[in-house]
Amino acid sequence: RHYIDRIQRLDPTYNSYITLTEERALAQAAKADERLAQGDAPALCGVPIAHKDIFCTTGVRTSCGSKMLDNFIAPYNATIVDNYEAAGAVMLGKTNMDEFAMGSSNETSFYGPVKNPWDTGCVPGGSSGGSAASVAAHLAPGATASDTGGSIRQPAALCGLTGLKPTYGRVSRWGMIAFASSLDQAGTLTRTAEDSALMLNAMASFDPKDSTCVDQPLEDYTAELDKPLDGLKIGVPKEYFTDGLDPDTAKAVEAAIKVYESLGASIKTISLPHSGLAVAAYYVIAPAECSANLSRFDGVRYGYRCENPKDLNDLYERSRSEAFGEEVKRRILVGTYALSAGYYDAYYNKAQQVRRLIKQDFVDAFSEVDVILGPTSPSPAFAFGSKTKDPVSMYLEDVFTIPTNLAGLPGLSIPCGQVDGKPVGLQLIGNYFAEGKLLNVAHQFQ
Ligand code: GLN
Repeated sequence: RHYIDRIQRLDPTYNSYITLTEERALAQAAKADERLAQGDAPALCGVPIAHKDIFCTTGVRTSCGSKMLDNFIAPYNATIVDNYEAAGAVMLGKTNMDEFAMGSSNETSFYGPVKNPWDTGCVPGGSSGGSAASVAAHLAPGATASDTGGSIRQPAALCGLTGLKPTYGRVSRWGMIAFASSLDQAGTLTRTAEDSALMLNAMASFDPKDSTCVDQPLEDYTAELDKPLDGLKIGVPKEYFTDGLDPDTAKAVEAAIKVYESLGASIKTISLPHSGLAVAAYYVIAPAECSANLSRFDGVRYGYRCENPKDLNDLYERSRSEAFGEEVKRRILVGTYALSAGYYDAYYNKAQQVRRLIKQDFVDAFSEVDVILGPTSPSPAFAFGSKTKDPVSMYLEDVFTIPTNLAGLPGLSIPCGQVDGKPVGLQLIGNYFAEGKLLNVAHQFQ
């Protein structure tokens, strides 16, 4: 009730929710009370959470931030939604997001932009801006999110939160609407690393319904939180401290490095030599995959359908041109071009080769260090409209987060200070399936 009241009172300002599921929340809360009364009390039992509107939720609109799915009522739950229900968590509603998770500012949502609770003239980041703003404004204690190129970590940085993108394959993608399937991974936005650990415990599972989900034993992600950091080797990539990085953000990250030294870690400058190619490779691979994934929205099976189509082609053409926004269309065009006969080898294959080199950089680095540390995003939250005219400046928001997705590694962002009253994010990157270690390193800082 407390959270529902706050959402009703404050969310008209922030616009962090697309759909509030009040009745379902109260019914789940009543069930959680019964479980608690019977002494069956898993950690999240009765804890309210919000789900990014990219996750299918039975009987509830699942829009993915698009006019295309504004009328789509999902007939099934995403696996992670089922997992949270089984853990007794209470779903408050579905959070706002960039259309089909394409964006870094939440300005591409069909439901309007989300305001950053730290400064309502600024964006909350994207694409999980609604999840981030809801947690930052205390409209949910934690929220689910997804990260294809930075969509959990960058909003975490801009809203002063802890954002965790697990290893690709750690968390099921079943029922998470696909953007770029080889990069998409579900994760969490919370205030602290401890909360992230609790949420990941409930979220992670092996799921035979997702062929890329890895059958890796489940861990208790809270187990290592209190481990001292003595002897920890932290690598700081020199390529992450270049011209594009705001000097005050760099200072906040450098101050965090000093804190880690005082906690017993040793710092080593490392090189990830192919980092500079990551954004270019991503903007071939992600649009290519999205152009294939979004072909299912054809006006026939579900979602938006245009009025009075003349014939089948007209139905496809008008349904798609009327219901997709500008950024989604740009990605479909770029991806279709990159995959077309004659261009496939020059663009898509080349980008995949670059992806392998980027992954190899990380594999080499992790033979020398335990964790990699750097900035999450080049600067703190920016004003609405300041990057919408120039897609490339928006794409560069993810220059430090994209390499992790290309390699499939886990990444996390935690707050590490402020610039002009706006939070700065510190990014920690771990080896495959080292979420426990990452959360430990984050928790010790907090
Ligand atoms: N901002 C990036 C993009 O627009 C990443 C989005 C994401 O991680 N979903 O593609």
